[in-house]
Amino acid sequence: MSLLVKNGRIITADADYHADILVKGETIETIGRQLPVQDAEVIDAAGMLVMPGGIDPHVHLDMPFMGTFSSDSYETGTTAALHGGTTMVIDFILQTQGKSLASALEEWRSRANGNARGDYSFHMAVTDFNEETKKEVRHLIEKEGITSFKTFMAYKGALMIDDRQMIGLMNEVKQQGGLVTAHATNGDMIDYLVAKHRAEGKLSPLYHYLSQPEITEAEASGRFADMAGYTGCPAYIVHLTCEGALNAVRNAARRNQQVLVETCTQYLLLDASLYEKDFEGAKWVMSPPLRERKDQAALWSGINQGIVNVVGTDHCPFMWQQKKMGEKDFSKIPNGHPGIEHRMELLFSEGVNKGRISLNKYVEVTSTNAAKIFGMFPKKGTISAGADADLIIFDPEEEHTLSASSHHMHVDYSAYEGWPVKGKVKQVLLRGKLAIDKDECKVEKGYGKFVKRNKVNGRL
Ligand SMILES: [Zn+2]
Repeated sequence: MSLLVKNGRIITADADYHADILVKGETIETIGRQLPVQDAEVIDAAGMLVMPGGIDPHVHLDMPFMGTFSSDSYETGTTAALHGGTTMVIDFILQTQGKSLASALEEWRSRANGNARGDYSFHMAVTDFNEETKKEVRHLIEKEGITSFKTFMAYKGALMIDDRQMIGLMNEVKQQGGLVTAHATNGDMIDYLVAKHRAEGKLSPLYHYLSQPEITEAEASGRFADMAGYTGCPAYIVHLTCEGALNAVRNAARRNQQVLVETCTQYLLLDASLYEKDFEGAKWVMSPPLRERKDQAALWSGINQGIVNVVGTDHCPFMWQQKKMGEKDFSKIPNGHPGIEHRMELLFSEGVNKGRISLNKYVEVTSTNAAKIFGMFPKKGTISAGADADLIIFDPEEEHTLSASSHHMHVDYSAYEGWPVKGKVKQVLLRGKLAIDKDECKVEKGYGKFVKRNKVNGRL
């Protein structure tokens, strides 16, 4: 089975040229002009951009949280991702405090296996680091191909670990060749502010925002960077939202420490004024919350300065009915919003088309850097001979509008209802197979594969 993608303009993180791509089986066989090919199925990509499939390293599918589950399953979530040009996602396994990492892995596998249409991997969230979990870190890296370990510096009593556990985990992960990632906000400060606002009867979604001011994130980001610098452990901050946190990373860079940074589409495009809409603000209740305009500017410039390395989504959708659990109390609103489907198109439209980032930078932050940071490059994240044939064929001119009435995510509202977008994913190949064509998903549930990852060193 051969497939020839002809006449496209190929964009990678560091190249931009016209050529044809010959795909054999699941991988790219060769790239060139006037390739002597017979008997291949042909996709004509004239006028189109051909780019590596997107990698979203921050999603929560079918995740138990605040007494409910996020509303996208592995099937619906990865299908929506494919429609939007994301061929691979990395989800988070959450250890239950008092239980093993192995039992959490088994639980997550039972929901993911056989259900995904797109490729996926897992980060392991360590919520209880002790002598037993310490032994499991090596096994996960060596045997399971899970090389990134998530920590929560917030959500006290459920997910949060203290600094003593953080240092212990970092020492072990460093030794075994992995990476520690963090939800870097100060859990104690946030708990204090949530309790204060509730006691004062301030219960609307606006107070979710006011309970997590910028300083809570700046402080924890600096502390996380310091602990990573002290232990020498590769470090990555997930969903970084604000100028203060970015400055903490900049400080670490001044002593030649690289703290890798992910932001998410919504922090680049939306701002906290949405919380002033009474309960409708619940649509954007997530942690950390949306920030100010000045933070958006800082994040875009952080991308161009190479300080922000990855744009993910923190996709964690809840139906409106689920959001209503917090109608009388912001602290009961399930945290999260839908974004998995629109990341690639929104970032292209708002980033590339509006002149904020270059095309090469676009590929870098939507695909290549995630593949490098998380141990999958060059199998994933680029277009080269031998790489997985994960390709998107993208029309840079087509205009369309985002809406819950046309999206594929299993959620009944859109965080971007009515948002005009210029640029559209036309076709998607996943490991050589045409996965999206004419707005239809062509691969079956179960086609998505678990991707085992390699050891990493925390440098780009
Ligand atoms: Zn998350």
